[in-house]
Amino acid sequence: MKQYDYLVVGAGLFGSTFAHEAKQKGKKVLVIDKRAQIAGNVYTKKVEGINVHQYGAHIFHTNNKKVWEYVNQFIEFNRFTNSPVANYKGELYSLPFNMYTFNKMWGVVTPQEAKEKIESQKKEAGITEPKNLEEQAISLVGYDIYEKLIKGYTEKQWGRDCKDLPSFIIKRLPVRLTFDNNYFNALYQGIPVGGYTKMVEKMLEGIEVRLEEDYLAKKDEYDALADKVVYTGAIDAYFDYQLGNLEYRSVRFENELLDIPNFQGNAAVNYTDRETPWTRIIEHKWFEFGKDEEGNDLPKTVISREYSSEWKPGDEPYYPVNDARNTNLYQEYKKLADKEENIIFGGRLAEYKYYDMDAVIASALACAEKELG
Ligand code: UDP
Repeated sequence: MKQYDYLVVGAGLFGSTFAHEAKQKGKKVLVIDKRAQIAGNVYTKKVEGINVHQYGAHIFHTNNKKVWEYVNQFIEFNRFTNSPVANYKGELYSLPFNMYTFNKMWGVVTPQEAKEKIESQKKEAGITEPKNLEEQAISLVGYDIYEKLIKGYTEKQWGRDCKDLPSFIIKRLPVRLTFDNNYFNALYQGIPVGGYTKMVEKMLEGIEVRLEEDYLAKKDEYDALADKVVYTGAIDAYFDYQLGNLEYRSVRFENELLDIPNFQGNAAVNYTDRETPWTRIIEHKWFEFGKDEEGNDLPKTVISREYSSEWKPGDEPYYPVNDARNTNLYQEYKKLADKEENIIFGGRLAEYKYYDMDAVIASALACAEKELG
């Protein structure tokens, strides 16, 4: 008889969802994480009354009603709507690409005029079947927007030429012929009131959690504790990189506490030119309307500049780089994973997938249902 039914490696959204479901089904669960805190990359830390998204800004958005209801059982969500602003060499544009953007870029006033402008730029570029991100972007929004709002940002973000990137990345962004600055096409959107850490604490309520525990360093010891393992770490690390490294993009954050109440007037400003070294600046208080829990205006503000870099061992892995090499390499690792017994691989790092939060929760719920019935 082992001590636990499940050992969950990683207290991020996949691990915490699975752990919660297993506990609900009466299973004995142990969650471990190598960090000193729970919540994976959605971890938020309170600084001067402001919940700072320590591992990058996270805005919860979903069309999946089941997932929305699921997260709402743990915490209340505010009505935050993501409307980032693009700063191209001091020119400001609305995102995602919509009538405000088109009006500022071209002076067009009606949707028909905007459509014609995009069509004519697409025609000029001679693209019929977009083969990469550059061609996909030009076909969606035309050459000018590609040049000013996409090319520089994307090349900084991914460290690769837009011609060498898959087109699906840009399809994440809506293009609208309406005056709507809502970045996400989602029925439900918001930020947990009090921060994501509070939400994950709720998910893990009543479950044993051990922090600063490195599973791979003491694998045999941990495996002896539980009948089954749910592993949410990097799949290549699990197999000791035996087939080679999967590539990631990493992000470095430069946080600053400023003695002013309002730095940029918006949660996210993207710097879309190639020369500015950061990709965007996040001003965390605007995720929560700049007020503390008592409703007082906050006199200070915390901003984070984001710098994107190629991942190297020791860095935090953020975005999987889904190009041909990595996709094939992941498939090889997946074959090894399928042969492992009593272990489930799930989440962004273990499935090497550019997951949004709602998708990772949906995937953990499906996994739990399959596993626990
Ligand atoms: N993107 C862009 N300009 C912007 C914002 C996004 O070109 O101002 C492109 C870029 O290629 C990026 C992709 O759209 O990688 C997806 O952006 P998203 O905001 O979804 O990225 P995330 O929030 O996941 O970092």
